[in-house]
Amino acid sequence: MTTPSPHKQGLLRVLDASRYVTDFKKGLLAHLANPRRAITVCFPVEMDDGSVRSFFGYRVLHNNVLGPGKGGIRYHPDLTLEEVSSLAALMTWKCALIGVPFGGAKGGVVCDTKQLSEGELRRITRRFIAELGDNIGPHTDIPAPDMYTNAQTMAWIYDTYDAMHPGRNNRPVVTGKPVDQGGSLGRQDATGRGVVFATEHYLGIRGVNGHRSLQGLRVAIQGFGNVGSAAAKALVERGAVIVALGDSQGAIHAPEGIDPAQAMAFKQRNGRLCGMPGTTNISNAELITADCDILIPAATASQVHADNAPDVRARLVVEAANDPVTPQADLILHQHGITVLPDILANAGGVCVSYFEWVQNIQNEQWTEDEVLHKLRERMSRAVGQVLRHSEALQNDHPDDAHAALLRTAALALAMERVSCAVLERGIWP
Ligand code: NAD
Repeated sequence: MTTPSPHKQGLLRVLDASRYVTDFKKGLLAHLANPRRAITVCFPVEMDDGSVRSFFGYRVLHNNVLGPGKGGIRYHPDLTLEEVSSLAALMTWKCALIGVPFGGAKGGVVCDTKQLSEGELRRITRRFIAELGDNIGPHTDIPAPDMYTNAQTMAWIYDTYDAMHPGRNNRPVVTGKPVDQGGSLGRQDATGRGVVFATEHYLGIRGVNGHRSLQGLRVAIQGFGNVGSAAAKALVERGAVIVALGDSQGAIHAPEGIDPAQAMAFKQRNGRLCGMPGTTNISNAELITADCDILIPAATASQVHADNAPDVRARLVVEAANDPVTPQADLILHQHGITVLPDILANAGGVCVSYFEWVQNIQNEQWTEDEVLHKLRERMSRAVGQVLRHSEALQNDHPDDAHAALLRTAALALAMERVSCAVLERGIWP
């Protein structure tokens, strides 16, 4: 069965969720489904060997009715404007749902970071930011790290913007900076920890296999990068057992549990998880259908699809990655009694702490890590509670409607309701 592209999936989901938005003005649909602004730039960069290469870059502002645009900058050789646009829309819904005063944005440069020196990356970043000019800014559109960009990239962005706008506090122009350049404590692990806070709050209300906490629950995690490793650590701290763990080269299985610290040390030594002593090698396909209570896809899109969804044995799927469950799989999992905590809710911890960084930068303050995590837990828990309540209301209004029963529908409808309400409250210009 063919899987629609994440971009098409996103559009289908917005279209579908709009049916459940209270008093929705149908004329807003195209406005909410498409970017408000999409910028393409092409710029030359001098390479280390003296040659010159041209690079394409994008910045898309999907919506800014709730506040300035917010979203990552990714560097990838296959990056397209379509992909950037779809990720920008996801940011709009995520920010609206978690209750931070931002709109959605995303950007990036088409390049392969593995083929570029640090100096070339720095020149690409500076020139890209100069090309974007005042289309980014502390109160207009605020970038952050994404695939193949990091705190160093954000420091270059801050420095470039600061050079272009001397004499102001420009730190809030970008988040995910190094801590001594105004980055927030707790930002590095925020998405993974947010995934765990969301899961814990869900368990406290609805439970999984009779468990109301993570203690003793068996978890399979696909992806052992930034998000997957932080989630694994926080899960084990709370008594969960990691029974399967995977990266792009394969996965490992151990019914008695995998220690994330040992797995990280093994991966750092060997470049992969497969072969770790005390575990059995399995494929990523086997990880998705492994015997466990909770499945956390934390790698990439479309990993749970129509073909493997019927075999998923977890009772709860927590989307740490963006779009890991396809729309067809959503319905199949629902038919099998499996709940999905959707990406725009479960992985919103990163943008939430990005917002905390922005607030700290505006105030010229630095909060402690405990303070950041306490606030993060509060926001994740509040959003999960709101989505569960909204889902109950939707199911009462639409009995026997499978779409209305999905937490994704409730989350998206709630986010769209907040955005469309704001458009109407502010009054459509002119
Ligand atoms: P990362 O690059 O640090 O880690 C990705 C992990 O997934 C790696 O272990 C990699 O080996 C593995 N992987 C990649 N392709 C795979 C495949 N086809 N099969 C199995 N494993 C594969 O990335 P990350 O920052 O941890 O992000 C993971 C996901 O979470 C992405 O979808 C990202 O968009 C999403 N996300 C990240 C953040 C954040 O703050 N980092 C926030 C929200 C959403």
